[in-house]
Amino acid sequence: MALEHNIGIDLGGTKIECIVLENQKEIFRDRILTESEKGSDHILNQIHQIYQKAILFIENQKHTLGICTPGSISPDTNLLRNSNTTCLNGLPFKKILEDKLAHPLSIENDANCFALAEAVMGAGQDHAFIFGVIMGTGCGGGFVHNKKLRVGPNLISGEWGHSILHTNGHACFCQKQGCVETYISGGGLSKILNNHGIHLSVEAFFKKEDKNNIESRIYQNFMNDFAQAMGNIINSIDPDIIILGGGLSNIDSLYTDGINAINQYIFSETLKTPIVRNQLGDSAGVFGAALL
Ligand SMILES: [Zn+2]
Repeated sequence: MALEHNIGIDLGGTKIECIVLENQKEIFRDRILTESEKGSDHILNQIHQIYQKAILFIENQKHTLGICTPGSISPDTNLLRNSNTTCLNGLPFKKILEDKLAHPLSIENDANCFALAEAVMGAGQDHAFIFGVIMGTGCGGGFVHNKKLRVGPNLISGEWGHSILHTNGHACFCQKQGCVETYISGGGLSKILNNHGIHLSVEAFFKKEDKNNIESRIYQNFMNDFAQAMGNIINSIDPDIIILGGGLSNIDSLYTDGINAINQYIFSETLKTPIVRNQLGDSAGVFGAALL
């Protein structure tokens, strides 16, 4: 049987990671600094450099190539948008990269790569319909059905973080008010804590055992908002499993208090959906890129 090779490159704000899968087994991994302050040409050169190492490793054998990057390619303009490596926004990034690397490629955002990787190689392996959720600085997500990403006509499938949780609620960078992300992402919660004069990191806040009244109320609201947001998703598409990723997925009480609160928001008696921690950790992005 011929060997199948998939190269994945995860373009992050500080580092670029590259792996090669051979029949879905990792055989090569390397990383290089992004050095985004040196501009877009430099970033493209860094990607080129690490890609050359990867193809040298597999002696130029036939392969697929996928790129994981925050942001997305606009279906209207084909230009990259919403990337936190801001010097790349507004560039025809896919075309430039395909020319530079002389190879066709697929690009997906980090949340979709996370969902795909967990569906194929991680916590969702035994399930057909997966919702992968990132609760990090922001809230993102992706749907995978039968090991294939669901993208959608607007290329925003899984963007639950920008559905409205509270009408006329907190202002969001997306210009709307009351988005899920402004309540239950790391960034959203930090802001809430700050606004109440609570100077704790998100991690320390959840670890603190003797919470005062205000802190307890913020905690309850957080779990309730999480439950409501999950309930909305479960009521509309009822995935087989929900896999949590991002920094906030490490909060133990999400899997107890958070999950327990979901029952009141679903259109059924008791929640059957497993809501679990990811298995691939920080590697999900680069694995997902390789699997595109
Ligand atoms: Zn928003």
